[in-house]
Amino acid sequence: MGYNQYMERVNLLGFPIDTYDMPESIEYIKAKKGHVVTINPEMIDYALKHKEFEKIIKEAELIIVDGVGVQLGLRILGHSVKRIAGIEFAKRMLLELSCKPIALIGAKTYVMEKAINNLKEEIPNINIVYSQDGYFNDENKVIEETIQKEPELILVAMGSPKQEELIYKLKSKLPNAIMIGVGGSFDVWANEVERAPKIYQKLGLEWLYRTIKEPKRFKRIFPTLPLFVLRVLKEKWS
Ligand code: UDP
Repeated sequence: MGYNQYMERVNLLGFPIDTYDMPESIEYIKAKKGHVVTINPEMIDYALKHKEFEKIIKEAELIIVDGVGVQLGLRILGHSVKRIAGIEFAKRMLLELSCKPIALIGAKTYVMEKAINNLKEEIPNINIVYSQDGYFNDENKVIEETIQKEPELILVAMGSPKQEELIYKLKSKLPNAIMIGVGGSFDVWANEVERAPKIYQKLGLEWLYRTIKEPKRFKRIFPTLPLFVLRVLKEKWS
C-alpha cells in the first residue's frame, strides 16, 4: 500500500484536513474513490456561512491543502503540512487513469475544447468519454448524461461552490468515481490563463500573482484571509 492508512486528519476550524503528500494522496484516492477538495480560506469562510456547503466539504473523501492560507492556519495550530497544487494533482490523476473513462465538466465551450485538444496531445491515450462546458441551464440533464457514461474520473472546473455542489450530486450516483473540483485548471490547460512563474508557485504566492494580474480577485481574498487568520488564532487561544 502506497499510503499510511493510519495517518490522522488534522482539524482546522472544524474541517478535517488530510496530511498526505502527493504520492500518498494519489494512492489513497485511487483506493478509496470519492470527492477530492482543494481547500482554501474562502471555501472555509463560505462553508461557515452555508450549512449545505459545509456538509459537502466535511463529507469529502480527501481534503488537500492547495494554498498558503490554509497552510498558515495549520501552522498556527502546530501542524506542518505540505501544499499540493490542485492543478498538478488533477494532471497526475489524468495521467494515472488515462485509460479509464474520464469526464470533464466546466469552463467556457471554447476553453474546454482547447483544453481537451491540448490534453489529447500531451496524453495520447486519454479516454475522455464525456465533456460539457460549465454554463448549462439543465443541470439534471448534465447529471444524467454523466452517469450514463460511467466515468471513473470526473474533473469539474466551475469554481466554488458550484463545482463542489455538482460533484456532491454526482457522488451518490457514481460511487466508484474519483471527482475533483479543479477551479480554473481548464483555462490553464487551454493556454488561456498562464500559471504564475515558478518562484510564485514555490513560495505559495500564486494567488498574489493572479490578484496582481486580475485586481478584481482582490475582493475575494480581502478581507477573507486576515479574518481567517484571526479565527484560527481565536481557536488556538480558546
Ligand atoms: N465557470 C463555469 N461555470 C460558471 C462559472 C465559472 O464553468 O458558472 C468556470 C470559469 O469559466 C473558469 C472556472 O469556472 O474556467 C474557474 O473559475 P475561477 O477562476 O473563478 O475559479 P478558481 O480557480 O479561482 O476557484
